[in-house]
Amino acid sequence: MDWFKRKKGISSSEKKVIPDGLWVKCDNCGEIIYRPELQKRMFVCGKCDFHFRVSCKEYIQYYFDPDSFKEFGKSIKPSDPLKFKDSKKYTDRLKAAQKATGLNDAVITGEATIEGQPVVAAVMDFFFIGGSMGSVVGEKISRAIERARQKQIPLIIVSASGGARMMEGALSLMQLAKTSAKLAQLSDEGIPYISILTDPTTGGTTASFAMLGDINIAEPGALIGFAGQRVIKQTIGQDLPEGFQRAEFVLEHGFLDMIVSRQEMRSTLSRILKLLQPSENKKTKKKTSTQSQSRGESNEKPIVKKETNSTSTENKKLPHESKT
Ligand SMILES: [Zn+2]
Repeated sequence: MDWFKRKKGISSSEKKVIPDGLWVKCDNCGEIIYRPELQKRMFVCGKCDFHFRVSCKEYIQYYFDPDSFKEFGKSIKPSDPLKFKDSKKYTDRLKAAQKATGLNDAVITGEATIEGQPVVAAVMDFFFIGGSMGSVVGEKISRAIERARQKQIPLIIVSASGGARMMEGALSLMQLAKTSAKLAQLSDEGIPYISILTDPTTGGTTASFAMLGDINIAEPGALIGFAGQRVIKQTIGQDLPEGFQRAEFVLEHGFLDMIVSRQEMRSTLSRILKLLQPSENKKTKKKTSTQSQSRGESNEKPIVKKETNSTSTENKKLPHESKT
């Protein structure tokens, strides 16, 4: 569209005031959208419902109550144990990403509320080296899971990731096992975990925590998969079906529970959290039961199973439950 292109050589004092990229072209339908308008619509195209990729800061703003997000784990910073270098040094890539995003690494963790309900949250940022999962991402997510377990409040992880971070080699791969093991502990205690998969969620992230939610929710059109399409195509020697690895396709094939648009995510999460919450009565019991036993690393005794039976389970032995 010629009328839209800026012609070179025209100088005006106004030009300096106009922020870069005031108009945005929709990647899907090609519509030219006024950026402030797009911001109001949470970066969702008004014409075709395309969900633009946004940073973790936007997700925090969209999904949680205003000003409720209290960050923790901010001091954890990445290192370069392998002294990795490809076309650039890994340390240089880190520095550039830190400068561009204002983050230490590709995930931000904190406590927040969703319509007043407390949650522990980990939100990834695709703009930090492709949202890749290195040892810092793994550690921060593990700590978030641990906090949800200790505080007995639901966990929400928003994924936006290309997978494991190759610059940290096997250390990145170890994060798959680490986060998955932590989630298993959380599950043992009956604490809900909602996974939100945004565009893209692929590789090691999909192969670990992103697909382990009690409820897995995706944004419309999000790319979700393990290996890339080209690799799969070459391996099986066949053309892939239309819409392959898109959220709608993944839902149809049973790997997702629902697809929720960005604008409706907060209210949907709130409704799910209400449904998953134990009743007030049970909640008090649960707390008492947790405090009565050591709150350390041990989780040999599943708390939820216990508290449903009786308030004084310590003294009672139920016939169907052999006590260890
Ligand atoms: Zn569009």
